[in-house]
Amino acid sequence: MTTETIFDKIINREIPTEIVFENDSVLGFKDINPQAPIHVLFIPKTRIPTINDLTDEQKHIVGDLYLAARDYAKQIGEDENGYRVIMNCNENGQQTVFHIHLHFLAGRQMTWPPG
Ligand code: AMP
Repeated sequence: MTTETIFDKIINREIPTEIVFENDSVLGFKDINPQAPIHVLFIPKTRIPTINDLTDEQKHIVGDLYLAARDYAKQIGEDENGYRVIMNCNENGQQTVFHIHLHFLAGRQMTWPPG
């Protein structure tokens, strides 16, 4: 059993969130503290705390997150301009919500390296 996070409440529609994408396995919603003009989080509906907890059998879940990002980028017309997708892990990665999520950032020029 893993610990419930705020993202479970979002999946269960228990707190108001701007949902922009949904399919059978993935939910996409606007980040509450956006770091770019477009900042969406794609999360699996299955609770997995960190990348470290992923099993080989769950590899399709990570694929589903990337395919959701791909489809959303095309849907909002940012696919050609480009975007950044990031998944943070644990303390050094600055993960704060322990339910894996793919950050999708678009609408501005990104810089490298990230901070
Ligand atoms: P991370 O630091 O990679 O774990 O990212 C967690 C993200 O969740 C942060 O960018 C937060 O701004 C975002 N976040 C936390 N609570 C909410 C919420 N209720 N609705 C939308 N985004 C949230």
